[in-house]
Amino acid sequence: MNSFDDISENIKRIRFNMDEARVKCGREHDDIRIMAVTKTVPAERVNFAVSQGFELLGENRVQEFLQKKEQYVKNAEINFIGHLQSNKIKYIIKDMTMIQSVDSVGLAEEISRQAVKNGLRMDILCEVNIGGEESKSGFSPDEVTDGVYRIAELEGIRVCGLMTIPPPSEGSVFLERMQRLFEDIKAENIGNTDIHTLSMGMSSDYAEAVKFGSNMVRLGSALFGARHYPAEK
Ligand SMILES: *Cc1c(COP(=O)(O)O)cnc(C)c1O
Repeated sequence: MNSFDDISENIKRIRFNMDEARVKCGREHDDIRIMAVTKTVPAERVNFAVSQGFELLGENRVQEFLQKKEQYVKNAEINFIGHLQSNKIKYIIKDMTMIQSVDSVGLAEEISRQAVKNGLRMDILCEVNIGGEESKSGFSPDEVTDGVYRIAELEGIRVCGLMTIPPPSEGSVFLERMQRLFEDIKAENIGNTDIHTLSMGMSSDYAEAVKFGSNMVRLGSALFGARHYPAEK
């Protein structure tokens, strides 16, 4: 028997915090989506979250996703949010409604090729390395606008906004920079784009991210509890 009581408790807390954050910054009527980030979480726990209204899932790893996808309930919508190698796109493209982790024009070109081949149009977000960290991938803030212009020229792909993982515990400086970058890119009105999503905020900073215009927060540990990775051999 599985008990999902812990997830139910977490959901109550998340809904309370989200409501509070929305009211605090006068966004109570805004539509802010919450993604359930599934890495290391067994499929039955993911399915429970879906049954409680968390119908948008975020996948980080191609291999793990391919192992779990048959067990997922079918009404979930799935986005890819992890580092993606060009040669793996073909394994996931038909299952995703959005790829949020596009970190280069080269990767976008490969997604475009695969999308055209499969007769579909893939929505994407450009990932921004807003803190300029060595350890993270993504467009630098200076390059991303140019990147969006270039990706907008590709077939079978549509840029829908920006995604970021800001540096930890740096306060709100980077959240504010992302908000400005997102508004600036939206204001460019670039053809063949539909800039509507700012995917920003994780378990430790989602309430703060809502203050700075995020309309999609991505929650892993706040929803499912701490992740337990298998010990490295
Ligand atoms: C793991 C992960 C998250 C969720 O992280 P938590 O801190 O557990 O909420 C969000 N976004 C991305 C890209 C991730 O890899």
